[in-house]
Amino acid sequence: MKPSILVVEDEPALVELLLYNLEKEGFRAAAASDGEEALLVIAERKPDLVVLDWMLPHVSGLEVCRQLRRGAETRDLPVIMLTARGEESDRVRGLEVGADDYIPKPFSPSELIARIRAVLRRARPATASETMAYAGVRIDLATHRITRNGRQIHLGPTEFRLLQFLMERPGRVYAREQLLDAVWGQDSDIEPRTVDVHVRRLRRALNAPGEPDLIRTVRSAGYALDKPDS
Ligand code: CA
Repeated sequence: MKPSILVVEDEPALVELLLYNLEKEGFRAAAASDGEEALLVIAERKPDLVVLDWMLPHVSGLEVCRQLRRGAETRDLPVIMLTARGEESDRVRGLEVGADDYIPKPFSPSELIARIRAVLRRARPATASETMAYAGVRIDLATHRITRNGRQIHLGPTEFRLLQFLMERPGRVYAREQLLDAVWGQDSDIEPRTVDVHVRRLRRALNAPGEPDLIRTVRSAGYALDKPDS
């Protein structure tokens, strides 16, 4: 069955653009134009994922997200927040209220759709697409089998989640705190330094002697998964 997406946004032109592209890409799509309507539609239609604008009339996107996380039925509903404000503090606030991802405006429909697929894959690994591949590394999400250039790689559960997360957006640099949120969860009280330990283990497993290192350390910033020559 096609995944159903609810777009919550009060700008009609953007809604139209997103619905058109979502349907073209094989999703079922519906829209709500404010926070109250969104909560009603979500209760009624139970979408698979909500694209939620931050700036909405009446009830803000942030408040809608907070309410969704409090509801027993909607606690695990994947939410991607949209915002016109690209500041890091907003991103952090969005993630703090429980959004699964965050996209600053302006963005392209194809970027949003890539993020939707990534969030759905994390939320429902059994039903979403089966493999991820980048720079010779393949992850089979159903069996958790990983290979690099055909060679089998064995990872612990934390390293697996870390690799899967980095593979979703290759090239992007993540701070330790962002990796902690994404891989360990926002309620964990693990030290940021723990991330270094797991990155080290992931590196050791991923890179055979003589193979280029796929994980880039960005000094005082964090880590990214990169093609070594890019
Ligand atoms: Ca808006």
